[in-house]
Amino acid sequence: MNQSPSQTIETLGEFLAHALELEHESAERYRELADSMEVHHNPETAELLRKLAEVSEDRAAEVGQRAEGVQMPEIPPWDFKWNCPGSPESACMEGDISYLMNTRQTLELALHNETRGRDFYAQVAASSPNQDVRRLAADMAEEETEHMDLLRRWAEHTSHQNSTPQEDLDPPNMPE
Ligand code: ZN
Repeated sequence: MNQSPSQTIETLGEFLAHALELEHESAERYRELADSMEVHHNPETAELLRKLAEVSEDRAAEVGQRAEGVQMPEIPPWDFKWNCPGSPESACMEGDISYLMNTRQTLELALHNETRGRDFYAQVAASSPNQDVRRLAADMAEEETEHMDLLRRWAEHTSHQNSTPQEDLDPPNMPE
């Protein structure tokens, strides 16, 4: 690891450069996971993941706008790559592995990485000596927390359906 996210972020430019990479990476992974869910004939979860991809993409665009006119440092490629729960060193998103994942694993992976993103923003919000950076990072941490809640609720929702096999084309009416 060349640059640990726990390193203090001092300037707005430095923070924006990290946020930009984090949001782009997230958007890309959500799109891959959405594709994977389509392969698994789970269009509802695919749709949720596409929404999250859009949110990350919008966020990246906002960050990009904010970065206009701000001096962004040339930072070495940051190590924010999505990884698997329980294995910090292995990027399980490489290659075709994502196509073998079921809905539960997909949501677990997404939640794991949202949590890492939230922790990154929260840590910056708590430790940066720069007030603008702290404020912005706190906002972003809060938004990540909302994404985590959304994924948790969705995981709960889908776990109720896990007992029914995928080829169940006539699901019982859900009283809601
Ligand atoms: Zn998020």
